[in-house]
Amino acid sequence: MPNERMHKFFASLSDQGLMLTYSDVRLRTTYSEVLPPDANLASRISRNVELRVPLISSPMDTVTTASMAIAMAEAGGIGVVHRGLSPEAQAKEIARVKNHLNARIEAPITVQQDETVSDVLTMRERKRYRFHSFPVLDGDGKVVGLVTGSDFDFCQNLNAPVRSIMTPLADLTVGQPGMGPREAFDLMNRQKKKVLLLIGENARLAGLYAFSDMKRIFARAEGQQSEFNVDAKGQLRVAAAVGVGEKALERAALLSRKHCDVFHIDTAHGDSRGVIETLKTLKAQYPDVDIIAGNVSSGDSAKRLADAGADGILVGQGPGSICTTRVIAGIGVPQVSAIYDCVRAIEGSGVPIVADGGIGNSGDMVIALAVGASTVMLGRLLAGTEEAPGETRFLNGMQVKDYRGMGSLGAMRESSASRERYGQASVLPQKLVPEGVEGIVPYRGPVRSVLDQYLGGIRSGMGYIGARTVSELSDRAEIFRITNAGLAESHPHDIAITTEAPNYQRS
Ligand code: IMP
Repeated sequence: MPNERMHKFFASLSDQGLMLTYSDVRLRTTYSEVLPPDANLASRISRNVELRVPLISSPMDTVTTASMAIAMAEAGGIGVVHRGLSPEAQAKEIARVKNHLNARIEAPITVQQDETVSDVLTMRERKRYRFHSFPVLDGDGKVVGLVTGSDFDFCQNLNAPVRSIMTPLADLTVGQPGMGPREAFDLMNRQKKKVLLLIGENARLAGLYAFSDMKRIFARAEGQQSEFNVDAKGQLRVAAAVGVGEKALERAALLSRKHCDVFHIDTAHGDSRGVIETLKTLKAQYPDVDIIAGNVSSGDSAKRLADAGADGILVGQGPGSICTTRVIAGIGVPQVSAIYDCVRAIEGSGVPIVADGGIGNSGDMVIALAVGASTVMLGRLLAGTEEAPGETRFLNGMQVKDYRGMGSLGAMRESSASRERYGQASVLPQKLVPEGVEGIVPYRGPVRSVLDQYLGGIRSGMGYIGARTVSELSDRAEIFRITNAGLAESHPHDIAITTEAPNYQRS
């Protein structure tokens, strides 16, 4: 939570009616015992849904479908699948994310104890199975043992029955049918087991965990501190935009069947009756799914959403790179002040704030987190990556991808969801009033390498401020305002850049 110095800073601005955004401020460095690699980036998108890193991809049709959501969750964050798709198509995208990893194999391939070793090897070859471990059953379907790769490797007589080379059930480490993936992974690590059978009553096989899959999901990969962001079943976490009203309820019904972790009531004006009613209904119908809602930009609005039961709140009205809302409608609060105001208004409620829009580089992410946001949501910074929907094309010799606002003319003409988001569901196509633009961004390659740079930048900021955790960042940060001269000094200056840095683009 922001500290007293931060409160004083914003109070003095508010007395003058002054609101600031990212480029207006910087953070003071201070004594630190934290090296960037030691910073812990874990955070939450909502009350109950944790993230390993505080990054979220935006629900936009040029940013998040399943490919982006998978990459985001594998990097430790989360993606919000957009709703410019039919509910059925959106549910398919959610299912693709959820089924991407095999944490627990529910119906393992088994062999019979009397089959010969050669039969099993032939079957394996024919079916092109890449694994070597098979639970062994008797004629009644009860588990009697397990054969693994080394049993086959050391087998001298291929005509021998499988039962003669297997490890019998009595000598195996096994788990209960309800054992979760994390518990299973810990047990396998302790006992140095590569396969763990889950055995129910009457020696029935209830599932199997393979160490190689689990390691991919849970183990810290070398040189990279994040882990996959998975649910209790070991499946990647994912969120989905659902919108407001009856259609949101229909969408939610389909998405909940696919075990979507978070529903996002995404609208341009979150402090409105439709949003609050939808929020209350969804909360009552899906008590096990976290509901986040937005967007808002003032403390009063955030408080109303928190009181109505929101598990997370999106702050940002008008900061987005493709957004024209502030110009068209004359509303909106510069983003840093908006975040702080909302954080302050719901302090102590346990509801995290997502800083949505206007993030131009990792320094902005550090500032958003320092004023109390728990996570940042990214559109433009991810739109040029491989995993964003849409093809790359060449424009003036440069590889680019399309990026457009969900309130742009193109998006509103194509999708009723976009029209609803901007309160224009029943407006004729020729009378639509866009609040966003359509454009292109440079192609940036795989999202993972882009995310690594952003996460490195956040770690660096935490190191300078001496924050071990994301919440310590706002506990310790001291913010100050800078002038245009200070901003010019902050960017590279008086030099022609000859080699592009992977984490710096001046927009
Ligand atoms: P960016 O990261 O600065 O590109 O901002 C992305 C954010 O802008 C999204 O997460 C939305 O909250 C917001 N947004 C998306 N489309 C529009 C639009 O057409 N008008 C206004 N805001 C938009």
